[in-house]
Amino acid sequence: MAITAPRGTQDFLPEQTGDWQKLEEKIRSICRIYGFGEVRTPIFESTELFLRGIGETTDVVTKEMYTFEDRGGRSMTLRPENTASVVRAYLEHKLYGEQKVHKFYYMGPMFRHDRPQAGRYRQFNQFGVEEIGSQDPAVDAEIIAMAFQLFRELGLNDLVLHLNSVGCPKCRPVYRQKLIEFFDGKRDELCDDCKSRLDKNPLRVLDCKEDGERMLSEGVPLITDYLCEECAEHFEKVQSYLTGIGISFEKDPRLVRGLDYYTKTAFEIMYAPLGAQSTVCGGGRYDGLIEEIGGPSVPGIGFAVGMERLLLTLKEQGLLPPVEELRPAYIVALGDEARKEAFILQQALRAKSLYAEIDTNGRSMKGQMKAANKINADFTVIIGEDELAQGQAQIRNMETKEQETVALGDVVEYIESKKKG
Ligand code: ATP
Ligand code: MG
Repeated sequence: MAITAPRGTQDFLPEQTGDWQKLEEKIRSICRIYGFGEVRTPIFESTELFLRGIGETTDVVTKEMYTFEDRGGRSMTLRPENTASVVRAYLEHKLYGEQKVHKFYYMGPMFRHDRPQAGRYRQFNQFGVEEIGSQDPAVDAEIIAMAFQLFRELGLNDLVLHLNSVGCPKCRPVYRQKLIEFFDGKRDELCDDCKSRLDKNPLRVLDCKEDGERMLSEGVPLITDYLCEECAEHFEKVQSYLTGIGISFEKDPRLVRGLDYYTKTAFEIMYAPLGAQSTVCGGGRYDGLIEEIGGPSVPGIGFAVGMERLLLTLKEQGLLPPVEELRPAYIVALGDEARKEAFILQQALRAKSLYAEIDTNGRSMKGQMKAANKINADFTVIIGEDELAQGQAQIRNMETKEQETVALGDVVEYIESKKKG
């Protein structure tokens, strides 16, 4: 049986990676003007990190992790997301010692045992940021603005921001109690997953794709009605900063994260036509996470963008113009000696940073001319028997069809001046 790529993974061939590279460049340029520096962490970490950093009751941890034992008998996990790793690195390098805000960004593959479908894979890529060390609501608004600037510069205008506050360990217990009271007697109406969520983490019932919407229409209590003064003020300020820069939002009480270390702002940016895979970006504040992972009490906030989903969105909107390709000089040669000259010329052109190609399939003269056309050569350099004998080459401009005879020793300079001039 033929060996294929694992289910839920994809190969990207050169025709597709051009789009990835353009997206990555755009991301890097925006990160620079927002003051974020790139961080690269390992693709696998101790399982324990994700148990603590994502939470043992979440779907990611209970159902989706690629966990394995290494040869030393240690439990390792392919990273399902990158926030926990970035925070681990921040602690490991003791960056908290300085009174400073740290702004990190990352891009790279994540691994989750999800059910594969369009926009949902087992290996997928995220671009994300983590801003660690500030509680200022301006920072919440800053990273949301950053995501929007990226989307806008890519040409996407119809993305919708969903915004909520999930409170903090001061105000959430009261809300949690209200929820438990509300769900009391409704247990039988809930899906099996929600029944177990109810015991471990009642907030996450709202997040459920099956029951969440329905519970809202049945008047489930909303966290925003139970925020403490500090959280309410923070939420107000985030909204006013966003309004101040013209970013509109929908308040979405279903955006909840039941874990104690997620605090205050939670948000998602959606592109509705992607259906069940409509969330292109998800993020929020985690003022309790760093302590949870074993560090001091330092606040943080971040988001992650699903890059495959973003590319799907761009494609659907016709926002992926063909990538402009470099046109080569193609050196046509017949016979061993001429082919050797062609090879030397090819390398001499490349040494001047010019794109050059030769035939490596033993094609005839005619076949080589065809090949030159096929790869859209702008010049062909023809070394036939006569030319070789006279130490010359014919150079044809493939656009104008003009042809000139040039000494072999002058070919590089000739092409360089034509291309750059
Ligand atoms: P979903 O509800 O769609 O499963 P999530 O809540 O699990 O998303 P996050 O953990 O917030 O997603 O990850 C941030 C972003 O990463 C998502 O908004 C999405 O764009 C992308 N993402 C998450 N899981 C996948 C996946 N399996 N395949 C492709 N992209 C994904
Ligand atoms: Mg998921």
